[in-house]
Amino acid sequence: MEDQGTNCSFCGRTKQETDVLIAGTTGHICNLCISQAHDIITEEMEHTTRENLEEDLTLLKPIEIKEHLDGFVIGQDHAKKVLAVAVYNHYKRLLQEGTKDQEVEIEKSNIMMVGKTGTGKTLLARSIAKMLNVPFTIVDATVLTEAGYVGEDVEGILSRLLQACDFDVELAERGIVFIDEIDKIARKSDNPSITRDVSGEGVQQAMLKLLEGTVVNVPPQGGRKHPDQKYIKVNTKNILFICGGAFDGIERHIRNRMNTNALGFGNATEEQIDETNLLQYVSPQDVKSFGIIPELIGRLPVLTHLNPLDKKALRDILTEPKNSLIKQYRKLFEMDDVTLKIEDDVYELIVDKAEEFKLGARGLRSICEAIMVDAMFELPSSEEKEFIITKAYAAEKLSHKKLRQLRAVS
Ligand code: ADP
Repeated sequence: MEDQGTNCSFCGRTKQETDVLIAGTTGHICNLCISQAHDIITEEMEHTTRENLEEDLTLLKPIEIKEHLDGFVIGQDHAKKVLAVAVYNHYKRLLQEGTKDQEVEIEKSNIMMVGKTGTGKTLLARSIAKMLNVPFTIVDATVLTEAGYVGEDVEGILSRLLQACDFDVELAERGIVFIDEIDKIARKSDNPSITRDVSGEGVQQAMLKLLEGTVVNVPPQGGRKHPDQKYIKVNTKNILFICGGAFDGIERHIRNRMNTNALGFGNATEEQIDETNLLQYVSPQDVKSFGIIPELIGRLPVLTHLNPLDKKALRDILTEPKNSLIKQYRKLFEMDDVTLKIEDDVYELIVDKAEEFKLGARGLRSICEAIMVDAMFELPSSEEKEFIITKAYAAEKLSHKKLRQLRAVS
């Protein structure tokens, strides 16, 4: 009975009107007020995160963006530079939107990256998103279809982006989408009058609006927060799209174009063409000849290439990046109190094998795994405190039979 006079000091509800009334030193708070206060705090924190993001975006200059990328991606200086500028401009445009200065409208700088598999395209896109702390998703262009066909609608790209940020639409609207294998939806025939093919040109057409900026009704697809909501509206105007592809065979188009151009100006004055890396000369015209429709190329105005990885680059990838493969293995062994020592010539062996596989840096992981798996299996149960990998040991683990298995999986 003595409690009857106790009220929540915030809303005045009596103890009977609440489920829980918590006593403080000089007052009380009820469960309803706690819950309301919690909502206010959450909202406030989200707001601050956004303000911080804006601060980050204004502070990062292209040179700093590149320096940051240097910590994770080996080589590819040209791509890094082009990306740094494109991303900088993209977010400058985004910040301008919030101001009154709308006289000069800055256009979107979506990016197209051409480079062989395993040279760092995805890694670059991912590293940028991580650095900017914006939502990021990777989609494979080969699974996309035009609306109404079996496969994933182009809109599905955005539901993945929404999932990446727990359905915070505002965050998703400034995120980055990496569309991989864009070359696989190239038009199969050079003849534009041919009836549209489902997998290729139709998908390219469907992507146009999305890349340019439009409000899309996105199916939430099992979204946790909006189970009842049918569609979520997402504006793609400020979403940065980065497309990547290996474009196998594009060299032929590059060579043709360069030879044709060279004819007009006389070969003597032309600078020597580096036949070993024709991708460095890639132009929108070559991408068009490959089968990407001009409208789509127009919406991906920043075009850059990735260089093939030479031995030195592959060697550096093993040890230099902040979370390099070898650093990761070293950490794994350390957790079992085992010190990992790798003799220098082992790296050469790994690099040689990776080159053999022609999978760029992608092969490095499976090669390292083949060398280390036995030790990772046995050492945790042994008394050994050191694991020294010699070239002979590594070579044995990569013996022909085992290597064949490895090739089969890569
Ligand atoms: P891509 O998208 O070009 O096919 P990824 O970026 O997915 O290739 O790279 C495949 C793997 O190789 C990743 O584990 C990545 O860490 C590594 N890798 C590729 N290129 C580089 C590079 N230039 N620097 C560091 N690591 C790289």
